[in-house]
Amino acid sequence: MNVPTQVLHSGYLPDPQTGSTSVPVYQTASYAFATAQEIADAFGGRGPGFIYSRISNPTNAAFERRLAELEGGVGCIACSSGMAAISSTVMGLTRAGDHVVAAKGIFGGTVSLLSRTLSRFGVSATFVDSSNVEDVKTAIRPETKLVFVETIANPRMDVPDLPAIAEVVHKAGIPLVVDSTVTTPVLIRPGEWGADIVIHSVSKFINGHGNSIGGAVVDTGRFDWSEGPFEDIAQLARKAGKLAFIAHLRTLVYRDLGCCPSPFNSFLNLVGLEGLAIRMEAHCRNALHLAEFLAQHPKVEWVRYPGLSSDPCYETASRLFQGGFGGVLTFGVGSAEAAMKLIDRLALAQNLANIGDSRTLVIHPASTIFQEFTTEEREAMGVPDDMIRVSAGVESSADIIADFESALAGI
Ligand SMILES: *Cc1c(COP(=O)(O)O)cnc(C)c1O
Repeated sequence: MNVPTQVLHSGYLPDPQTGSTSVPVYQTASYAFATAQEIADAFGGRGPGFIYSRISNPTNAAFERRLAELEGGVGCIACSSGMAAISSTVMGLTRAGDHVVAAKGIFGGTVSLLSRTLSRFGVSATFVDSSNVEDVKTAIRPETKLVFVETIANPRMDVPDLPAIAEVVHKAGIPLVVDSTVTTPVLIRPGEWGADIVIHSVSKFINGHGNSIGGAVVDTGRFDWSEGPFEDIAQLARKAGKLAFIAHLRTLVYRDLGCCPSPFNSFLNLVGLEGLAIRMEAHCRNALHLAEFLAQHPKVEWVRYPGLSSDPCYETASRLFQGGFGGVLTFGVGSAEAAMKLIDRLALAQNLANIGDSRTLVIHPASTIFQEFTTEEREAMGVPDDMIRVSAGVESSADIIADFESALAGI
């Protein structure tokens, strides 16, 4: 099945009890068993059944099956946020003394997790230019347990050459983790290009309406967990096979961190997901039109959008993505002051910390998401002080451009 069909049909058949076509919200904490033996078997993994909604829940499970199928993966875990998906994945693959290689200029929360929070537990990170495979290769050490990149770095806008990076990462015997939040399965299935684990912040394009926070981890089934440097997961692989990593999270890291989503949020995410394929078409079209408009505007100093033929990542993006280049772009107007003035003059675009809403959104990253870093740190991460990030919505393209045109006239 193709994505526009999968978003509506995968992973759920009408409820056998009621015929409900919409996935029911199982708003329950736990599940009654008929006998003491049955619940003991469920706890021991010997028998079926949901136990407790921190571990799994039927509404969350329907969302997980749909996402796993969309990514062509073997299993999925839905999390309370994108950051929960990233922290459980990284904590599930590392121990004190281990090391992570990650792309520069990726999501600020991920940078903070890897450089600040996890350093308190003895896990270190090196940030590299992910558009340069040699940089990735030289950063990998014997203690490196994973390489983490974003399909389109938010907000640096780099598009890494996934198959080339996967080759280097797999030679080192470790998994490639790819955050595909900005692209979604509509534009790319990273597993087809070598990714072992795919992460989504489903708060963004997958939910699509800015009404809840959520995340997901998908195992694409490519990594052989029975080999490799993860002893505990290798042991699980004897019982769980290809599902070893998902089982490791479900029965240990994710269970213990307690980062489960609310079943109601999974319901909202399932509803949002239904329109993903047609929404992405509009996001991509509107972002491209806006990028082209900004690129020729005399007050705009630079634009980064992988769909512009002048963009350094255009070639890679054209090779890897199908059907468009995403809804996010960045541009600069020379100074932080001019950027903030421009944002204040926009009327349609909303000034807020999110992407992937059906409405057009803007933010000044340096003074908000990246304010905990110094100007030098931000420059190194590829977040200059004059950067404005735009998430193009699905409104009329002419209305979006008119909004930016009139705001630019006033600065
Ligand atoms: C927003 C975002 C995250 C974090 O997701 P939350 O749902 O906000 O926790 C991770 N990666 C990328 C690329 C994001 O845009």
